[in-house]
Amino acid sequence: MRYVKGSIPYGEIYYTNSTCLPVSSRDNPVDRVRIEGLFHPIIEAGAITHVWLGESKPSKESLANFVVKVFRETQNDQIAFSPEFTNCLQCGRTVRGLRDSCPHCGAVEVDGITRITGYFTKISGWNKGKLGELKERNKNRGFFCDRQEI
Ligand SMILES: [Zn+2]
Repeated sequence: MRYVKGSIPYGEIYYTNSTCLPVSSRDNPVDRVRIEGLFHPIIEAGAITHVWLGESKPSKESLANFVVKVFRETQNDQIAFSPEFTNCLQCGRTVRGLRDSCPHCGAVEVDGITRITGYFTKISGWNKGKLGELKERNKNRGFFCDRQEI
């Protein structure tokens, strides 16, 4: 088992928080919520499972089905759906997903926004370790039924 996560040569080293499985774990999100939830009853301060969404925008029905399933079938105390966004520093618009440029005005002056630990923040302020974690996240592509909107 490899205990150090990330890339040592690039200094992108991070650790896995709390009772969370590694962010790169390929378990489907229901299994992740179930496995991590096994520990939640013994964490008095509370624990949370992140469901990384990347650029997907699941339908409300898909999210509702997921929440009902994990409520009925797991011991998990909390889940958080965690999408990613790109904010354009030129026109000010925000769109789903992490992009290299703005789909509205074409500007390359953009910043990503997503959750680290429990908070949404701009990626430009992250250290190398957090950036390494972001690269390795399993974003559950194809698991949820998406609505195709920007
Ligand atoms: Zn723009």
